[in-house]
Amino acid sequence: MNSLSKIFDSYAAFEDEVGIYITRICEKHYADCEGACCRPDICVESLTSPFLRRLRQRFASDAEYSDRRGWLVETGCALSVGRPPVCYQFFCDAIFDDRPSAEFRYAIMVLSKLVNHVGKKALGRKHIVELQESSELKRINFARFEKQLNESARAFKRVRAYLDGDVTKLDSLRILKKIYSPPKAKLLAISFANKKSSP
Ligand code: SF4
Ligand code: SF4
Repeated sequence: MNSLSKIFDSYAAFEDEVGIYITRICEKHYADCEGACCRPDICVESLTSPFLRRLRQRFASDAEYSDRRGWLVETGCALSVGRPPVCYQFFCDAIFDDRPSAEFRYAIMVLSKLVNHVGKKALGRKHIVELQESSELKRINFARFEKQLNESARAFKRVRAYLDGDVTKLDSLRILKKIYSPPKAKLLAISFANKKSSP
């Protein structure tokens, strides 16, 4: 398998895992929102970006697009993978209000940036979804992509353990800060909370 094929496979597997997890977080609020944060003008990047287009053709080829609703269907987004990374970056107040603490807020912010982090600076300064020519995909920085995928996967594990209640405090800020460096005041609040809880 060549490097580009590997990238499609590993990105799709990671996106799918994060997407399923985020759906679980949103699920209990769906009755009130009905996917209010989805918009066809966001969906459209999945048609124009060669990277996202190829992901969709490979892993979600039966999804149907509508000009009026984009990929949004009654059950949510029809795309399991190949969504624009920005789709994972928005969480509404209902989610943040689940647990009003700086630590929880930070965990959600990290979660929201995991998918986007993987494709940063894929070619020069361009994000992988910004590449406009299929030929550019062959020239992406594969080593950087793999490194960022590993960073996102490690941070996902930490954040998930905290959000699932397997651990009571977010640890490994060093790993999490690679994905999202919070404003200093917020970081201090999280570090302080961690210190208070240590023996
Ligand atoms: S999650 Fe799916 S339906 Fe919603 S904006 Fe993104 S691509 Fe469109
Ligand atoms: S972030 Fe909020 S508005 Fe968007 S799908 Fe989740 S619960 Fe609904």
